Amino acid sequence: MHSNHYDITIIGAGVSSIFLAYTLIKNNKHVSIHMIDLGKKLSERTCDIDDGGVCTCEGMCSKYIGFAGLGKSEGKFNYTNDFGGELGRKIGDQATLDLMKEVDAILCEFGGDFTTSYCTKNESLSNRARMADLKVLSTEVRHLGTRLASEVFHKMYEVLKNRITFSFETLVETISKHDSGFHLKSNSGDFHTEKLVIGTGMSGSTWLKEQAASLGLFPGKTRLDMGIRVEMKGDQLQMILQDTFETKLRIERDSFSATTYCMNPQGRIIRKHQHGLVMPDGQNAREKDTPSENLNFSLFVPHYFQSYDEAMGYAVDIIGGINQGQGRIVVQRLEDFKRRRHTESLEGNLIGPSLEAECGNVRFEVPELYGMALEEFLTSLEKLLGEPIHPDTLLYGVDAKFHEPKFSTDPHFETALPNLFLIGDCSGETHSLSQAAASGIYLGNYLGE
Ligand SMILES: Cc1cc2nc3c(=O)[nH]c(=O)nc-3n(C[C@H](O)[C@H](O)[C@H](O)COP(=O)(O)OP(=O)(O)OC[C@H]3O[C@@H](n4cnc5c(N)ncnc54)[C@H](O)[C@@H]3O)c2cc1C
Repeated sequence: MHSNHYDITIIGAGVSSIFLAYTLIKNNKHVSIHMIDLGKKLSERTCDIDDGGVCTCEGMCSKYIGFAGLGKSEGKFNYTNDFGGELGRKIGDQATLDLMKEVDAILCEFGGDFTTSYCTKNESLSNRARMADLKVLSTEVRHLGTRLASEVFHKMYEVLKNRITFSFETLVETISKHDSGFHLKSNSGDFHTEKLVIGTGMSGSTWLKEQAASLGLFPGKTRLDMGIRVEMKGDQLQMILQDTFETKLRIERDSFSATTYCMNPQGRIIRKHQHGLVMPDGQNAREKDTPSENLNFSLFVPHYFQSYDEAMGYAVDIIGGINQGQGRIVVQRLEDFKRRRHTESLEGNLIGPSLEAECGNVRFEVPELYGMALEEFLTSLEKLLGEPIHPDTLLYGVDAKFHEPKFSTDPHFETALPNLFLIGDCSGETHSLSQAAASGIYLGNYLGE
């Protein structure tokens, strides 16, 4: 075999691809595998952003690009079908949960069991929530945290590198289809592969769209979650959180459904930069030595668009409008929100803001839907808590989670082009670590047969 010729090439060395590769080498001792990533090895992925500084990377930022992809994040693996993607709908709920068990077993094999897993299920809370018109979403969780997540992926790399050819800092410029597979032209040379798997996550979005179009494949429906981030008294949700570290609550109405996202007891709110937009994001208390006295979460309302461009246009209109080209984020007291008036100042506010933002009126900044969803959610939450939410609670406008558009793939993630597969977030089917990893194992089992 020619040295540049492989049975399987995986573009992207992120979470889904790593679990795919690990499954392939376990299932098939002889298959030749090539993994290509735009970024660096995990040990070389350093950026001053990690220490609160400014990005010092030449080209694409190592915080997001390179071996382990966005697995080099907080590393919270939620094992559930209730959120984090639509893998259950594609391959079956039970099959997805079984694969997630495998994901967890692999993490533990590589030291993930240094931290214990926990379950957020609570029957009596679920029953009480139902009376308040809320649904409690529960999940098994293994929360690695940034440091342990990096250690686990580093150990996986040490095993993979013995069996797999890696090409880091490599950009695939063109992909062309031939009878016997695919020809890849890159800045590190040309490669040939029989099967091609793409797992480029969200960070490869533009690249994938261009490559797919050149192969005659086009993305479709795109989901965008948007909502207001809430910062409340640290003990306000004590009645809900007494038995669990965090919870996810959902309110469902005919015109919308809204779900709490990224709840951080004792966490802070930090700025998140994506797609040239600035949003209020939650930082987990585990990531800082000095916990905050507050708790924060976003209330996301998902919205589906016919195309990715339409979804991005909507986000840029709203969030870009708030940012005003200066990274502006707006904050409002809950009492002012309820009374539909501006917040003039936060001086003397019982709840100290953990993020510096401009006082204002979030209702003026976001479409009515998001304000209405928050209002109805907080009314139900007050019913569940049996007490009013503190009027000094802070509302920040506006947070969003971007999803990749869906490409049409068959039940084995194969596109309309035979032997071309899409896994993880770039397929549009997964939006989380556990589901991305599970999609990798699933394809690994299929291709390894
Ligand atoms: C800040 C942040 C924190 C998160 N925290 C959590 C969490 O705690 N829990 C959770 O469940 N989910 C979390 N997520 C989501 C989760 O990280 C992703 O769903 C998951 O990593 C998706 O895996 P993936 O393999 O599809 O993509 P990724 O893990 O992103 O991997 C994509 C890989 O492709 C490479 N790549 C990109 N473009 C190219 C290209 N053109 N050529 C070659 N390689 C390329 C990248 O370098 C990367 O290695 C978080 C996301 C973000 C942004």
